[in-house]
Amino acid sequence: MKAWIDIYIGLGSNLDQPLDHVEQAFSTLAQHKHLRNARISPLYQSKPVGPQDQPDFINAVAHAQTQLGPHDVLDLLQSIEQQHGRKRLRHWGERSLDCDLLLYGNANIHTPRLTVPHAHMHERSFVLYPLADLVPQLCFDNGLDFSRFLSRVPFDLEPVKKGI
Ligand code: ATP
Ligand code: CA
Ligand code: CA
Repeated sequence: MKAWIDIYIGLGSNLDQPLDHVEQAFSTLAQHKHLRNARISPLYQSKPVGPQDQPDFINAVAHAQTQLGPHDVLDLLQSIEQQHGRKRLRHWGERSLDCDLLLYGNANIHTPRLTVPHAHMHERSFVLYPLADLVPQLCFDNGLDFSRFLSRVPFDLEPVKKGI
C-alpha cells in the first residue's frame, strides 16, 4: 500500500474577507478525498512582505496526510487558489488566496514548478510560528533545524483565531 505523507501548507489572504478565504480553503482541504487528518494552526494577522501599500494578511498553516505526489498536491493547491479568484497582480502583492506547499514529508524537491521545503519558509514569521503551533518541537527528519530558524525570527504577528 502507498504510504501516507505528512504535508504542511501555508495559507494566506489579504483581499475580500481574508479570514473567510483561509477558513474555506482549509475546509476544502479537510474534505478532500485524497487528504486525511487535516488540522489548521491558529490564524494570525501579519504585515505584507512585499509592497507595503496593501492590506495586512491573514495567515495559517495546515497539516494533512496524503498519498498524492507533490506535483499533484501543487495542482490541488493551485486549483483551490483559482476557486478563490486568485489573480496574478504583482510580485508578492495582494491576493485572495495563496496556498504554498511548505513541506512534503522529508522530501527535497527542485523542479521548475516546485521547490520543497518552500524556499522562504525559514525566514517568515507567519509560516514558522503557526508551524510551531502544529509541531511544537519543530522536529522534522529533513535535516533542517526549524527551531533555530524560529529563534532568529521575531514574533511580529497578531493572533486572531484559535486553530483546530
Ligand atoms: P513565495 O513563493 O515567495 O511565497 P508567491 O506565493 O507570491 O511567492 P506565487 O505567485 O503564488 O508566489 O507562485 C509562483 C510559483 O511558485 C507557482 O506557479 C509555483 O509553480 C511555484 N512554486 C515553487 N515552489 C512552490 C511551493 N513549494 N509551493 C507553491 N508554489 C511553488
Ligand atoms: Ca507565498
Ligand atoms: Ca504561492
